[in-house]
Amino acid sequence: MPTESAARLNEISNRPGASAPAEAGVLSVDLSAIIANYRLVQAKAPSARVGAVVKADAYGLGARTIAPVLAGAGCRDFFVAHLAEALELVSGLPESARLYVLNGLAPGMESLCADAGIVPVLNTLEQARDWQAYATAVGRKLPAVLQVDTGMSRLGLGADELETLLRQPGFLDWVEVRVVMSHLACADMPDSPANAEQVRRFAEMASQLPEAEQSLANSAAVLGMSDCVGGLVRPGLLLYGIDPLSPATAGLHPAITLDARVIQVRSVQAGVGVGYDHDYVTPSPRRLATLSVGYADGWPRALGGKGAVWINDVCLPLVGRVSMDTCVADVTDIPAGCIQPGDKVELIGPHQSVSELAALLETAPHAILTGLGNRFERRFTGHALPQA
Ligand SMILES: *Cc1c(COP(=O)(O)O)cnc(C)c1O
Repeated sequence: MPTESAARLNEISNRPGASAPAEAGVLSVDLSAIIANYRLVQAKAPSARVGAVVKADAYGLGARTIAPVLAGAGCRDFFVAHLAEALELVSGLPESARLYVLNGLAPGMESLCADAGIVPVLNTLEQARDWQAYATAVGRKLPAVLQVDTGMSRLGLGADELETLLRQPGFLDWVEVRVVMSHLACADMPDSPANAEQVRRFAEMASQLPEAEQSLANSAAVLGMSDCVGGLVRPGLLLYGIDPLSPATAGLHPAITLDARVIQVRSVQAGVGVGYDHDYVTPSPRRLATLSVGYADGWPRALGGKGAVWINDVCLPLVGRVSMDTCVADVTDIPAGCIQPGDKVELIGPHQSVSELAALLETAPHAILTGLGNRFERRFTGHALPQA
């Protein structure tokens, strides 16, 4: 191997937090759009503080870059799912920022969490007991968020458990409940009666902790239920420019594009099988392009025979099965000679949003986004990047 490329390879593989080079494709993240969306959420919920949900590496976009950029725009509240995710972010955020661990702590993690100044969400009586015990052991009152279950049956204390906890000797002496939170099951269906019922139960349970700030709303609730969002809102999707409701919200800034590359172009006759199991057989002579993404990249296998990609304004249907590392688009509509290996293909962008892909596959936009693999190079644009 020539030494120059060996050195380049070495640099790529050793760079801390390095993202893959653009062989599969490029996931571009517009940081200015994310900041504009943060401000849009603030305008939609003017009486609330806007937190940022940056769990799962900011939905796969790169939390170590995005969280500090949001902090630069004034955000001080950051939600992740796991303690390890919070520990990754703590050094990049200002002292005044707060990081919350939505899933709460696994047993034994209390000291790691407290020492880093990270705030756990207490979801169960066990988590509450362990946090209180740790606070007592170190002789220091410790902050927490308390989650109550108001009807999603996922995380949080039920009404009886809340009563038990608040009667428990010493709990409020050792644990400073800063925020009481709950999560809505049906916020993406604003007309569902389940929402009003959860809001009612939340008000009832939260009133038992009058000092604590209230937090109830994800992105869909910020848009659809703006009258009852509480003092601290928790959007994820909206910050990343993805609309949880349709029709699309005015003023939301698309923040993501995803491109792949053409690897090979071929012309085939009618009656030729394409891809695994010959799931597709050409009905007439076609031109086909093999693309650099497959289901191992989180480009969903279910798009085979169903989805499309774009070059400029031309829609190119995906034919045959999506393979692990490749998929095949029918490019017959692009004049011969106008497409060649190396050309860029739009997977997500102006012609195809994450929400549209999710609707096509009957899944959540969150699932599409968090599935995008680390073979895509993450490229940040649109904002003075924070110093590494
Ligand atoms: C993931 C999550 C959110 C953010 O949801 P979006 O739909 O992305 O806005 C908010 N709150 C909790 C508890 C979550 O788990």
